[in-house]
Amino acid sequence: MTYQSINPGSGEVLQTFANIGNDAFETKLAKAAACYTLWRQTTYTQRAAVVTQAAILIRERAEDMARTMTLEMGKRIAEARGEVAFSADILDYYARNAERFLAPQALHPDIGQAHMESSPIGVIFAVEPWNFPYYQLARVAGPHLMAGNVLMVKHAGCVPQCAIAFEKLWTDAGAPEGLYTNLLISHDQSNAIIDDPRIKGVALTGSVAAGRSIAARAGHNLKPSSMELGGSDAFIVLEDADLEHTIKWAVWGRMYNCGQTCCAAKRFIVVEKLADEFLARFTAALNALRPGDPLDPATTLGPLSTEAALVQLLAQVDAAVAGGATLITGGKRIDRPGSFMQPTILAHVKPGNPAFRDEFFGPVAMFFRVPDEDAAIALANDSDFGLGGSVFTRDIARGQRVASRVETGMMFVNNISWSDAELPFGGIKDSGYGRELGDMGIQAFVNKKLVRTAVLEAPV
Ligand code: NAP
Repeated sequence: MTYQSINPGSGEVLQTFANIGNDAFETKLAKAAACYTLWRQTTYTQRAAVVTQAAILIRERAEDMARTMTLEMGKRIAEARGEVAFSADILDYYARNAERFLAPQALHPDIGQAHMESSPIGVIFAVEPWNFPYYQLARVAGPHLMAGNVLMVKHAGCVPQCAIAFEKLWTDAGAPEGLYTNLLISHDQSNAIIDDPRIKGVALTGSVAAGRSIAARAGHNLKPSSMELGGSDAFIVLEDADLEHTIKWAVWGRMYNCGQTCCAAKRFIVVEKLADEFLARFTAALNALRPGDPLDPATTLGPLSTEAALVQLLAQVDAAVAGGATLITGGKRIDRPGSFMQPTILAHVKPGNPAFRDEFFGPVAMFFRVPDEDAAIALANDSDFGLGGSVFTRDIARGQRVASRVETGMMFVNNISWSDAELPFGGIKDSGYGRELGDMGIQAFVNKKLVRTAVLEAPV
């Protein structure tokens, strides 16, 4: 059974879902392809009516949607409510701005006139992760549906109820049949859909391993793809940082969503002068978090998304320690029902230790002490990943200079405000390619077509 809804706060199996068979799969694909022939001809106003209605429905259903997420993957309820609200905002943002983003652009050739048109390309296949069960879907639905494309989505195996709730929004919003299709499918069926000529583009948010497999498949088929993969973001603390302000961001940046965020702060790189004080205060703040039912607003530490995620993370920590790392705090599962892990800090993680290049997808921070700013930047850049990162300093200009020197797709100075509808999101290196959100997010799967008009005689 690939699709299983299990409450990670208690271990209770909530619901299981069978994969769809190949006949149903073909029917859905045919409907999506047929829908595209109509949807591509709609106006932006017509598309915006559907997308805006889906956003209205999200807001009407916000509490139910948030609870489903909390029950299915353990996100604390306040965070779940925030994600639901943000998902509606993303849909609204593209409903309002798509026409402007995709308006014809005048070019200025020496001879004649020319412009670029942006037109949809067809049915897009998206593969999405469980850690933001609605936001990830809104991030592809808002831009690509407004661009005139049609979407088929394979969501992660552990969040089928969220996947189905999101699909229902579109049906209830009056979308034409086939506009947005949730697919409960296996990895083999996912490969088959990428190979299908009716699919014109592939978007993945997920792990590096999934990225290698899906990008290779898309590449083999010469289909455009966007890859939003993992990260091991540096959190750089310079000697002139405001520690009170910095510690709060350190805790939030590592522990939001129980640490299961691609662009979470994962490597804490602190200049020697503040290192002892930072480590003491950071350790105390993490130890003060209290595990509990993620539906209880008083809980400050939720479970990991699944038991398998917890087991994998514990094994990674054990391997790090076996490889020479020191455990400053945590490192064990919490003795209570559900998949809870102690907030953990690892120090003395040296090159050669597997942890040095790994992504820890959960409440595990790596702490590094460095002599100065240059060493901090060198260590931040010594990573296979290049998603985001942050730098904390009282000197804003210095922070911006450091941000420019770190090799990632996103940098934050004195904050970690990861994602806004209007700002592009994405990384480089093993963190993938392409950008979602903002103006760039809607350009991923459109045909940028040159149209040139000139009264010219053919050369002889
Ligand atoms: P994952 O195992 O790669 O799963 C993500 C999605 O890919 C799921 O729907 C999964 O389906 C599917 N999948 C995995 N391998 C596949 C294959 N060979 N063929 C077809 N589908 C495949 O990732 P995860 O560990 O659950 O999610 C966390 C990862 O996502 C982390 O590395 C995190 O950093 C990254 N992430 C990145 C961003 C970003 O924007 N850069 C945002 C969020 C998360 P099944 O569940 O059915 O296997």
